[in-house]
Amino acid sequence: MFTALWTKLTAFIRRPSPQPAGQHPLQVEGRSLPWQDTLAAIADLKKIQAEENGGFTIHLALGNLYRAQGDLDQAIATRSALLHHTELTSDQQGRVYLELGRDYKRSGLLDRAEEMFAQAETILGRDPVLLEELAGLATAARDHEQAADLFAEINRPTAQAHHVVQQAKALARKGDTERCAWLLRKALKVAPGSVEAWMERMIQAYDAAHWDLLSRYFTQGLSAVEPKLRFLLLEGLTQHMFTRRSPQELFSPVVPPEAGQVLIQVIAAHPPDVHLLYYGAWIHIQLGNAEQAKIHLQRCCELDPEFWPARLELLGLYAAENQLSPACQEHLEYILLRGRQVKKFVCTQCGLKLDQIFFQCPRCRSWHSIAFLTTLDT
Ligand SMILES: [Zn+2]
Repeated sequence: MFTALWTKLTAFIRRPSPQPAGQHPLQVEGRSLPWQDTLAAIADLKKIQAEENGGFTIHLALGNLYRAQGDLDQAIATRSALLHHTELTSDQQGRVYLELGRDYKRSGLLDRAEEMFAQAETILGRDPVLLEELAGLATAARDHEQAADLFAEINRPTAQAHHVVQQAKALARKGDTERCAWLLRKALKVAPGSVEAWMERMIQAYDAAHWDLLSRYFTQGLSAVEPKLRFLLLEGLTQHMFTRRSPQELFSPVVPPEAGQVLIQVIAAHPPDVHLLYYGAWIHIQLGNAEQAKIHLQRCCELDPEFWPARLELLGLYAAENQLSPACQEHLEYILLRGRQVKKFVCTQCGLKLDQIFFQCPRCRSWHSIAFLTTLDT
C-alpha cells in the first residue's frame, strides 16, 4: 500500500503546474514559490518512514502539494477531511488548523485564515511558525503595530524594525514629526542596521531642509547598514525627491543645490563605492556639473568594468559633446531609452527583478535580499 501511495505522490510532484498559458509559476509575484511548498511536502513524506502514524503525514503532504499546484480547494478539502479523524493527537490537530490557515491565506480569504490560526493557537500556543503567519496577516492588513509586536515575539529584529518604521512614516504623514523621530530611534535600537530607518531619517531631514542633519544621518547610515544595501539610502531619498515635485517643477532639477552639495561631500569622504559614485554622478548632473558627473562615472567603470549603468550614462554624456549624424543620434537615443528601462533591482534569493526598491521580496518574502542589478548578464 505504501509503495502505491508513494508512486502516486511522486507522479503528482512531477506533474506540471496548471498555470495560465505563457505564465511561468515563478512570475506570480507576492506569493510563495511553488518549489518551497513542494520541498515542504517532500520533507513531510520523508517522515513517513520514521513514523507509525504515516496516514496523517501523507494527508498533510498531499494538501501541501495541492497548494503548491495552486489547487487550493483540494488542499482545503484534504485538511478538512483530516480534521474528522478521531485518532489525531492534539498537536496534529493544531498542525492541520495551521495548514488550513495557510491555505485560506493563499486563497485571499484572510478572515477564514484568521479563524483557523486562532484555532491553531488554542492548541499550539504561541508557536513561532504560527506567530510568523499572524505577522503576515497583520502586514496584509497594514496593522504595523501588531506586526512589529509579533516579529518582536519571535525575535526577528529586521522585520520588527521595518514595521516600526512604517508606523513612523504614518505619523510623519500626519505631521507628528516628534513621535516619528522617536519611533525611528526605537527602530534603530531594535536593528541598528535597519536601512529603512536610516533612509527615513534622511527623508525627514530633507523635508525639514535640515542639511546638517541630512549629512549626519547619511554618514551614520553608511557605516551602520550592510555595504550591499548602502545604495538604498540614496535610491530611497531620490525616489522621495521625485514624489515631492509639483507639476510646476517638472523642468527644474530634482535635487535642491544645498542637499546635492551635502550628499556629494559625504560620498567624497567615503571610501570609493561603485553605487555611491553612480548616484553621485546623477546628483552632479542635477546640479549642472557634467564634468564632475563624467569623473564619477569613469571611476565607477574603473572600480567595476562590468557596471554597465555607468557606461550607459557616460555614452549619453559623451554623445552630447559630439556632433552626431541624425541616424546615429536616433539609434543612440533608442539605446539610451531602452537601457534606462531595464529593471534596476533584483532579489538575490529568487531572482525577481523590479523597478522599485523593496525591503521584503514580494515573491519569496526574504528580507533585505535586494541588490542593484549591476551586470547585464545577472
Ligand atoms: Zn525573492
